[in-house]
Amino acid sequence: PPFPLRMEGKVISGFGRGSKELGIPTANLPVDAAVTPWIGDITSGVYFGYAALSLPAAHPQHAPSPASSSFSVFPMVMSIGYNPFYKNTVRSAEVHVLHEFSQDFYDAHMRLLIAGFIREEKDYKSLEALIQDINFDCVVARKSLDRQGWAHAALEGGDGWLT
Ligand code: ADP
Ligand code: MG
Repeated sequence: PPFPLRMEGKVISGFGRGSKELGIPTANLPVDAAVTPWIGDITSGVYFGYAALSLPAAHPQHAPSPASSSFSVFPMVMSIGYNPFYKNTVRSAEVHVLHEFSQDFYDAHMRLLIAGFIREEKDYKSLEALIQDINFDCVVARKSLDRQGWAHAALEGGDGWLT
């Protein structure tokens, strides 16, 4: 399917492998083909785009826009796939938001606007090699997003959502 692709849902717990301790926490979304029909057809790999997060009112990063939206938009880099390094048997969708948060946001509603593809999923010999690639993916994501003007589209929902 063509970009941009959309996906949304509540942030759930992942595999608890301590991505956070590695400096790259990933907010996991449920993978459900009934909600996200394109998920079964897409190449496993790393994608970039925007995450619109509806954070609780008490959250320090919560800065509602005047347009009555309670979502905040951040650039993101995400993985869709099996994570061969960890030999998963179910596909996961996990998002590293390119922003420093002072609190977790499990249960927050997250809308993704996936703007493009960075690379296919790879297996790694070491955790260090995996982390190095993810850090490079973050750089690629930022550069790519700087060239595109889709941040506003991440806020849209409802009828405009591609399926
Ligand atoms: P899990 O295995 O439960 O997904 P992680 O170590 O991947 O645990 O941490 C993910 C959680 O960290 C997210 O669900 C979110 O609440 C929180 N978090 C904090 N900062 C970020 C960030 N910049 N990007 C993604 N998640 C973040
Ligand atoms: Mg995670």
